[in-house]
Amino acid sequence: MQTRFIAEGNVGKLARWLRMIGYDTLLFEEKNDGKMIDISIRERRVILTKNAEIMKRRVVVDGKVQTVHIKDDDPKAQLRETVKTLNLDYHFKPFSLCLECNQTLVPRSKEGVRYLVPRHVSETQEEYVECPLCHRIYWHGTHWQAMVRELENLAQGN
Ligand SMILES: [Zn+2]
Repeated sequence: MQTRFIAEGNVGKLARWLRMIGYDTLLFEEKNDGKMIDISIRERRVILTKNAEIMKRRVVVDGKVQTVHIKDDDPKAQLRETVKTLNLDYHFKPFSLCLECNQTLVPRSKEGVRYLVPRHVSETQEEYVECPLCHRIYWHGTHWQAMVRELENLAQGN
C-alpha cells in the first residue's frame, strides 16, 4: 500500500514537497493531537510532527501509529529526513496532486484552458492539469522545471 501522511500545521512546507512528489499528505492545522492520531489510525496515515510529546504516546510507542519526528527547521532537510526514514521515492508520481489541496490533478486539453491561462503560456505549452477542487491549472512552465531540478538535487543528495 502506498504511503500516506498527515502533517502537523507547522510542517506545511514539507507537506507541499511531499504532494509535489505525489504522496497524499493531509495538512492538519487544529491543535488537537488526539484527533490527529485518530485520523492517522483510521486512514492509515504516517504522522509528521515536530512535537516530542506525541512521540511518547502509547499508540506511537506501541507502533500502532507510524510517526516521523521532524527535527530540522528547513523544509528541504525535513523532506530528506522523511524520505530517508521511510525509504520513499523522489520520482514517485511527480505533479499528480494539487500542492494546495492534495487533490488528484486531472488532465485538461490545450483548447479547454486557452482562456484560463496567460497567452504566452497557451502559445507555448501543450500539457495541462487542473485541480478539481480549487481549479488551479498547472503546466510544465519554468516554475515547474525549477521544482523538478530542485527534486533532482535532493534525490542526488545535494
Ligand atoms: Zn487545488
